Amino acid sequence: MIIILLGPPGAGKGTQAQRIESAQGLVQLSTGDMLRAAVAAQTEVGKKAKDFMDAGKLVTDEIVVGIIADRIEEDDCKNGFLLDGFPRTVAQAEALDNMLGQKNLKLDAVVEMQVDDEALVDRITGRYTCADCNQGYHDQNLKPKVDGVCDNCGSTNFKRRADDNRETVSSRLEAYHAQTAPLLPYYNGQGVLKTVDGMAGIDDVTAQISDVLSGLN
Ligand code: AMP
Repeated sequence: MIIILLGPPGAGKGTQAQRIESAQGLVQLSTGDMLRAAVAAQTEVGKKAKDFMDAGKLVTDEIVVGIIADRIEEDDCKNGFLLDGFPRTVAQAEALDNMLGQKNLKLDAVVEMQVDDEALVDRITGRYTCADCNQGYHDQNLKPKVDGVCDNCGSTNFKRRADDNRETVSSRLEAYHAQTAPLLPYYNGQGVLKTVDGMAGIDDVTAQISDVLSGLN
């Protein structure tokens, strides 16, 4: 199964992708995570991407298309994958269509997570992750069961993203509306667009996405 999670920054794509990954055995492919790893490792890609990411702008199509083209060749993608944060422009979507076409694969669904813009700033500025296992948390909405201890791996190290600040969030939202939202009519035209209410609670959104996925089988 090949699925895209589509929605603005802070819609909960990463949180839901982690849940779907463990429930459905689909590999989560997050271009944001891959780019942050490249920045941290100071690779050529990381050096090219850093300034765009710090400014809340999209990295060039060429860079992210290259990353995904390489990644989907890996063995763990053979049984399907879940794209989180890719594609983000129509040019990226067209490149993905070509990649899948060449491999005789088809996109099963694009799940749009709809969230009001006003909710996104609080969601983004309050979020953090475990520095060891990447489990996501939020200051108000999703606290660890024991304060300061990761539910998943017991680590006490947490981190926040450099671009999760108020200034960068508004550029990221602008980029979403100008460059990524045109993917909605693009995928609607292909008959694969499904919409879930991303304003609902985390478990409720997971249930809505599971319903969409089970309707595909
Ligand atoms: P994310 O973790 O998905 O919010 O992505 C963080 C940042 O990485 C974005 O603000 C962009 O600068 C960059 N990025 C991630 N995915 C893409 C993509 N598909 N196209 C362009 N830039 C991307």
